[in-house]
Amino acid sequence: MDSPKVPLRSAATELAGLLDSPEIGRLVDELEATRWTGRPGYPLRAMVGMALAKSMYAVPTWTRTVALVREHAALQAALGCEGEPPSVYACYRFAAKLRAYKPLLDACLARVTASLHAELPEMGTDLAIDASDMPAYANGQRYLSKNGPERQRYSDPDATWGHRSAVSTRKGGGFYGYRLHAAVCARTDLPVAWRVETAASHESNYVAPLLDTVAARGFDPATCALDMGYDNNRVYGECEDRHVRPIIPLRETPAVKAGKAGPPSCEHGTWRFAGSDSKRGASKWRCPTGECSPASRWVAADRLHPLVPRETPRWRKLYRGRAAVEREFGRLKHEWALAPLRVRGLDRVALHADLTILAKLACALSRARAVPLAA
Ligand SMILES: [Zn+2]
Repeated sequence: MDSPKVPLRSAATELAGLLDSPEIGRLVDELEATRWTGRPGYPLRAMVGMALAKSMYAVPTWTRTVALVREHAALQAALGCEGEPPSVYACYRFAAKLRAYKPLLDACLARVTASLHAELPEMGTDLAIDASDMPAYANGQRYLSKNGPERQRYSDPDATWGHRSAVSTRKGGGFYGYRLHAAVCARTDLPVAWRVETAASHESNYVAPLLDTVAARGFDPATCALDMGYDNNRVYGECEDRHVRPIIPLRETPAVKAGKAGPPSCEHGTWRFAGSDSKRGASKWRCPTGECSPASRWVAADRLHPLVPRETPRWRKLYRGRAAVEREFGRLKHEWALAPLRVRGLDRVALHADLTILAKLACALSRARAVPLAA
């Protein structure tokens, strides 16, 4: 999607704008209201700003974020903490507070996605779902030595072993850690729903909960593209139950080998697709010459015969949209410091993912709202 040209702003100016936006300002206010002790702390606006700055500047740790702010006058001004930047200890305490008040952060994320949806009405129409590996912090080896015993103690005991496929020059294989499961808008590349699970979790188990979060955030997706790892009957049913057309390539299962997939055919050739009826839950196919009787028939939708047939240009176009989720994982990891993980434990890793995606989405929102430059 083309994004409008907007005037360039410094990251510090952009950060101040985010903190003053209604979506994030309300998070600051709600966190402020939870302060029931008189214990003095850093203003929560500055602490939320530290969390956003960490991702916007792609800094892996709180320690380095604090060091950055300490020598960055413009950032201190944006955070409203001139001369006394928050300490590392304050950042850790703030992260613990966010974990304790996770519903407030979830509500903030829902406000940001809803406002993006208002700015970009086509957002969420076509989705792409996938999972991406997030290796745990330390303990890369499963065996203590070659042919030796399996490791029993891990510095992050929450994580589990999972498998990842080969990408480019990287070999596939086992990895110890977590997986980020995400539903990304294929038209805008923006994440709509996501969750962190441990690496052993099978990706296809999270399609239904992700689609439910997408719906709870006010989106009404028409299609969802997924890779072959999701090609099973349950995923088709979960998508269709939610009125989302699944776009998934076929695995070579026995039924596929037996030729049960694909369009019907007759002595006149392969039948042509003549439209789907979602209420009927079937697609219509026609004899190429019309000589058969009847010349057309309905084929009930299932994994082998989805309502958007794999033979159609529409299916191919939608499946190409699946690349959006891969691109977004790459951006979050490399440009927004989603990876490498520098925290341990499922709830800390989940918070890290939430804050990273919050920064990304909030910046996208402020750009969508910015007045475009005259052409
Ligand atoms: Zn025929």
